[in-house]
Amino acid sequence: MTRRNFLLYSSALALTTLNAEQLYKSDVFLSANEYTALLSLDYRLTQIRRHVGFGNFNLISYGDSLQIAKMNPKIGAFTNEEISLIDRFFYDEPSKYGFYGERTCYNLDNKISKKDVVKIPRTGHYIFKGKPTQDYERIIGDIGHTLYLTSGVRNTIKQLSLYCSKLRRVKGNITQASKDIAPPSHSFHTIGDFDVGKMGLGSRNFTLDFAKTSEFEQMTKLEYINIRYSPNNLDGVRYEPWHVKII
Ligand SMILES: [Zn+2]
Repeated sequence: MTRRNFLLYSSALALTTLNAEQLYKSDVFLSANEYTALLSLDYRLTQIRRHVGFGNFNLISYGDSLQIAKMNPKIGAFTNEEISLIDRFFYDEPSKYGFYGERTCYNLDNKISKKDVVKIPRTGHYIFKGKPTQDYERIIGDIGHTLYLTSGVRNTIKQLSLYCSKLRRVKGNITQASKDIAPPSHSFHTIGDFDVGKMGLGSRNFTLDFAKTSEFEQMTKLEYINIRYSPNNLDGVRYEPWHVKII
């Protein structure tokens, strides 16, 4: 049995919700032990987010998170298994999961200073100063305030947290998760891109429903705007009409 098949087999045994059909797919799954570590890591990251607040959680570094967890008995220090899993998610070559985007961050402990970002009122999100902020303000100026920032700067921990939540929802199927979200070392949110949505559309802003809005139609007419993940993009990522390419 190859190592990958072994992982498939062992994780399938542990995850009773997996159906037999999935055993024959070429998708890569977390092992049973990794899946257990994923659940505790996801929970710990949620506790850290509650502790520092939604806005700050977008910016805090890996080192900050380790320190906060250790200093707060209610959160508790990261386990060795969780740290190994973080290392895997950060340093693994994701093309083996079907994700072909480029690496945007080489330092797990990447620091983002509040001096380099602008907080966008009433969103809980930040945008980098310079071109990203200029482009955002230009888009809002051209389209109006029915369009707003749904996700801006994300440091490695925020991206890791989104990645873990997605992995949990797809029962440890890394291949499936990688179609919907970049690994924590490969997000353009870490260096400049941001997401926009239509006021009132809620979580449907992160579905193809956003592409049906008049706001999106207007965006497609702005010559200075590009969408990072177009339909059938070569990165292997789903079509994301809401994700504005800046870098
Ligand atoms: Zn995005």
